[in-house]
Amino acid sequence: MNEVRSKPSGPNLGAPNYSGHCLCGAVKVEVIDEPKWVSHCHCPSCQKATSAAFATYVGFAAAAVHFTGIEPKVFKSSPGVTRRFCGECGSPVSFEGEAWPREIHLHASFLDQAKDIMPEGHTFVKNQLPWVKLDDALPRSETFPRDKG
Ligand SMILES: [Zn+2]
Ligand SMILES: [Zn+2]
Repeated sequence: MNEVRSKPSGPNLGAPNYSGHCLCGAVKVEVIDEPKWVSHCHCPSCQKATSAAFATYVGFAAAAVHFTGIEPKVFKSSPGVTRRFCGECGSPVSFEGEAWPREIHLHASFLDQAKDIMPEGHTFVKNQLPWVKLDDALPRSETFPRDKG
């Protein structure tokens, strides 16, 4: 019987691998997949969208991410970019961009398992705030490593 081969293996077959919620709890998420990647972004848009020094994203296949609770609100922060946030408490929830088709990038601390994910690098470090001191030895990219041209 191989009918469940597309689901994650393990004792909790079909149970979410990751869960998450915003500050007020109105927006919730369940993810039935492992991250494609985890990265910090220091770009000016992410700084503004979070009012923080930088944002940490966990990239998932969009089809694996299911919002429960209320629908997050949508803000189109630049052409081809969709940022979602909680309309009740304002917590940033996610990023989607045309450069990453069929992906959704959840803010790391939106996830209940934030301590278990492992960042793999820093992007847009040309905009890293001067008082952010990092010694994690992770790869650093001036802009987006996946930028074309
Ligand atoms: Zn909320
Ligand atoms: Zn960014």
